[in-house]
Amino acid sequence: MDYTVSEKRAAAMAAITGSEKVQKALEFLKADHERCVREQVTIAKIASPTFHEEKRAAYMTEQFRALGLSDVHIDAAGNAIGVRKGKGNGPKVVIDGHMDTVYSLDTPLEPTFDGEYVYCPGIVDDTRALAAELSLIRALDAADIETDGDLVFLGTVQEEGIGAFGGAAAFFGENKDIDASIHMDGCGAEGIIYQSTGIKTLKITFHGIGGHAYMAFGEIANPLHAAARAVAKIADLKVPDYPKTTFAVSNFHAGTDAAIHAIVPEASIKINYRSNGAAELEALDKEIFRCIEEACAEETARWGKDTITYSVETYFDVKAGSLGEHDPLVEATWSAIEYLGNKPRLVEGGPTNASIPIGMGLPAVCIGDGGPDVFAHNAAKERFPVKDTWQMPQLTLMVALAAAGIDGVQGSVLE
Ligand SMILES: [Zn+2]
Repeated sequence: MDYTVSEKRAAAMAAITGSEKVQKALEFLKADHERCVREQVTIAKIASPTFHEEKRAAYMTEQFRALGLSDVHIDAAGNAIGVRKGKGNGPKVVIDGHMDTVYSLDTPLEPTFDGEYVYCPGIVDDTRALAAELSLIRALDAADIETDGDLVFLGTVQEEGIGAFGGAAAFFGENKDIDASIHMDGCGAEGIIYQSTGIKTLKITFHGIGGHAYMAFGEIANPLHAAARAVAKIADLKVPDYPKTTFAVSNFHAGTDAAIHAIVPEASIKINYRSNGAAELEALDKEIFRCIEEACAEETARWGKDTITYSVETYFDVKAGSLGEHDPLVEATWSAIEYLGNKPRLVEGGPTNASIPIGMGLPAVCIGDGGPDVFAHNAAKERFPVKDTWQMPQLTLMVALAAAGIDGVQGSVLE
């Protein structure tokens, strides 16, 4: 794609990469690669399914303490936090990896190495980021880099599945003094996620009286029929291609085999809808609730004796948002990827922990922490390519320094 980094930001990045200390840190990360991968294997062996991240949080805080970070603690949500203090005159920047994996507590975690890849469930997603954080702290210390703003190292809980970015939501909800964040998650060394895909996942339950399919017929409305009316209406909704907007009714539950001759008292559907545009998500939300309300009214009117009502349970509610393509943090990330000899690419949307700060209006990017074909979420295949992959922490280091500013070298690129 056609993309030019502004002169101002290009100059800032040149000052950063031209600094002897930064070069020392980049070389350190390369030299520390083997140790970083060993640490990654150690962390991968700590089972950490969503909502069961305590052991990893304990491990991370222990390492943060050993590396001399300040304010090391586990917050109420379970997130592991440690701060590398800056001079106090620059932006506060978060470096995040999520601690939870998609694998249950009884999944065998026995890493194997075939000379090219380390295999283990969760070895990349997002264990790689946690090991990279520790290597980054060592690199900053070895190169004696003092940042203007604080760097907040974070291991988050509940990123995956029904965790619904709960750890990130709790952290950013509580820490209003954060100025920017960098998330390491997913594949590749080239993609820049700078948007939040807005997501809603709801359960709608339709309520009626319920009764005998024969005896009560004509006397009561049928909540299952109301749910079906709603699904039929939702199925016909039109959404824009750009920004990408989607919807799916994913569950439909009502009745039991025992009550095969009953008008059920309730029926429920689950629905997931998403958009990369905030206005589009809001418009779709209105349409979906119009369908639900019309369905209830039509089923009620069909019999005219009782009223079908509905209730809502929310599983997921992530705001849509986007940084500008030329936001300083996006430009800094673009420059850093190019500096490492790779071809940067802006990614449209993407559900990551970065969605939470972006939805709140903060500058945040998510960059990959694996290579291509890491087979995340696939227990039998998940693997980390060991060759030359020190570039991931190098990239994070450069972006973090650009955001926080380096004492005596270059102020923060954030505006
Ligand atoms: Zn992940």
